Amino acid sequence: MDMDALSLQIEIKNYWVYPRAIKLISVQVMHPQLGDIGSLNAWRISRSQCAGSFLEILDEDKAELHQFSMTLFDKYGNLRPHLLSPGYRSGTGCWGREMDSGELVYILDVTVNESHREKGVGTWALLEFLKWQHVQADDTIHFRRVGRTGFFAYSPKSNHPSRDIPLDGDAFALDHNFCTTTANLEERKLKFPLHHAITEDKTTNIASIIQSFYDRDPTSIHKADDMGFTPIFCAVASLNLVAARKPLDWDLHADLGNAVNAEGATPLEQLADTLTSNREFAEIYLGWNGHSEDELTMQYLLTQAMGQTVDANITDYLTKTKYGCTCDQCAGGWLSPRMRFCLQAKGNLQILPICWTALSSFIPPALYPSFYLPFYKGYCEVLSAIHVLLTTTDDVLSAEGVRRFIKPDRNSQFFFRKGGQIEYVFDSITHCAREQSSLGDDTFWETFGDDEDWLSLPTCANDLEFQLVRGMIGLDRCQQWGPYDNSELDVGEDSNGEENDDDEEEEDDEE
Ligand SMILES: [Zn+2]
Repeated sequence: MDMDALSLQIEIKNYWVYPRAIKLISVQVMHPQLGDIGSLNAWRISRSQCAGSFLEILDEDKAELHQFSMTLFDKYGNLRPHLLSPGYRSGTGCWGREMDSGELVYILDVTVNESHREKGVGTWALLEFLKWQHVQADDTIHFRRVGRTGFFAYSPKSNHPSRDIPLDGDAFALDHNFCTTTANLEERKLKFPLHHAITEDKTTNIASIIQSFYDRDPTSIHKADDMGFTPIFCAVASLNLVAARKPLDWDLHADLGNAVNAEGATPLEQLADTLTSNREFAEIYLGWNGHSEDELTMQYLLTQAMGQTVDANITDYLTKTKYGCTCDQCAGGWLSPRMRFCLQAKGNLQILPICWTALSSFIPPALYPSFYLPFYKGYCEVLSAIHVLLTTTDDVLSAEGVRRFIKPDRNSQFFFRKGGQIEYVFDSITHCAREQSSLGDDTFWETFGDDEDWLSLPTCANDLEFQLVRGMIGLDRCQQWGPYDNSELDVGEDSNGEENDDDEEEEDDEE
C-alpha cells in the first residue's frame, strides 16, 4: 500500500464529565479510493486540571484507564515511587520525575480493517499520530516499559533515556518468570494448602494450622508458591494479622528480604502498596478514616523483624502513622505544620482583605434572608477565632476548639441563632487554601514561597491533604458545601439586622 496516499482525519472532543481535564481524540486513517481503513483512539489528559483527584477522574469511565492511573501514578498524577527508585520494580529505570508533569496521551487502541492488515498501516497511523502530537517525533517508535508494569510510554524528546534502550534491552513485566499454573481455588488448595489457608482463614485458628505445618516440616513456612509468594507474603497481601504474626516466631530474615515473586516486592513493600491502594480506594468511594490498626500493627511488626528502626512503641506508632504523617509533627497525626500555616493565613483578617461576596458564597442560600451586618460580623468573629487557635495553640482544628475563642457578643450570637455554623467558615478557608495551593493556581507559593517562617517548617505527606483535613474538621464529603452561586444575593450590608432584640449600639467593625 502506498502510505503517501494515506491521511489522518482527527477529531477532538471534550470528555463531557471532565471537559477541562480530558479530551477524547478519535483518528480515522483515510485512503483516497478505499476510504476509511483504520482508526486510533486516545485520551489526552491534562493533570494540572485534576488537582488531587487524578485517580478519581480516571476511574470515571474505562477500567483500562483506571488500571493505568492506579498502576503508574498517585492521586496527584505523580509517578509512583517504586517505579522511580532503584530496585527490581523500576525495570530499566529509564522513566523518571519528568513523567510527573505535562499532558498525558493515552492510546486506547489502533485498529486496521481486516483486509488492510499486515501492510504497515497501523504503524504508519501511530507514527503520524505521534508526529501530529509532537512535532519532533522521529520515524521509529520508542515505546518502552514503565518499570515492570504492563504499560509502555513514549517520550517526544529525542534525548530521553528511554531512546537509548534497544527493544530487546527493555525490562520484562513483573510476572514474566511466573505463571499461575493453579488458576482455580480447589487446585490451589491441594497444591499449596498452607498458602491457601493463610489467604482464606482469618480466624485465630490459622496460628495452629501454621504451627502444625511447621511441626511436620520446618521448611514449609518458607516455601514459595507458583507466583513466588512465601507464606509470610501471602499473610501480608491478604492482611491476615494472625497469620503474619505467627511465623515471626521463627527466623524469617530471608523471606522478609525476598522480592523474587510476581509482584517484585518484599512483604513490607507489598504491605505499603496495599495500604496505599486501600487508602486511595476509600478516598474515592467512601472517604478515608486513616489506616486500620491491623495494617499498621503489621507494618510495625515487619519493620521491626527486618531490623529497621522504629522508634515509637506500638501505641505511639499507631497514633503517629494512622493518617500517613511523615514529619512526626502533625497535630493529631493529620494537621501538618505547613497545612496549619496555610490555613492560618486564610483565617487572618489582616492578610486577606475580606470580601463579603466571596465569604457569603460559602453560606447556604437558605440563610440568605439573615444576611445582615451582625451576621457578617459574627462570621468574621469565627474567622478570627480560627486564626487564634491555629497561631497560639498546637491543637488540632475543630469546631469545639474554635468555639473556645469566639467572643459571645451580639454578633456571634446573631450568626449562630440564624443558622450560621463554624463549618461554613472551615469550608471557605480550606476551599480557598486548596485553590491557592499547588493543586490550584499556586498563588500561595508566590506570596509565601520565600517566607522564612514557612521555609523553616518541616515538609510532610499531609501538606496537601485538604480532603483529609476537611473530613477531620467535620466537612462530611457526602454533604453539600460551598461555594454556592450567590449572584442573586442582595446583601443588606447597611442594615443592623431585621431584629432589634437588644438596644446595644453596633460596635465599629475591627477592619
Ligand atoms: Zn506530618
